[in-house]
Amino acid sequence: MRDPNCIFCKIVEDKVPSVKVYEDEHAVAFLDIAPLANGHTLVIPRNHAHKIEDLSETDNRGVWELVRIVVPRLTEAMAAEGMTVAVNNGEAAGQEVHHVHVHLIPRRRDDGYGPIHSLFKGRRPEVTIPELEAIVHRIRAI
Ligand SMILES: [Zn+2]
Repeated sequence: MRDPNCIFCKIVEDKVPSVKVYEDEHAVAFLDIAPLANGHTLVIPRNHAHKIEDLSETDNRGVWELVRIVVPRLTEAMAAEGMTVAVNNGEAAGQEVHHVHVHLIPRRRDDGYGPIHSLFKGRRPEVTIPELEAIVHRIRAI
């Protein structure tokens, strides 16, 4: 299924230009047109889905399998030392295009960006074990 108004669906169908890295029957990897680092790649399902929880099991497996295939190749091609693999799931988390996409961002020890944890620097809540257990209880009750 495609959304005719979705830019990533248009990339899947080659209706807008993109530079594809790899593709198979379930997912497509292409270079981000506004890269955060050289080689910044996005992996998307062929079928439109807004968020991770909207993916079919098949599309979910397809996306993460393509991530597994592309990461080592991208790492070697970019002479990277690591890779940030990230999903902004939902607008509150920073998702701008409403089609699930996994960011693959080649990293180097000296690139100065830090881990994903640096997004939350200075604003991390202090928690107790009972508070963590209460969260688990809420998750499992759904
Ligand atoms: Zn789409």
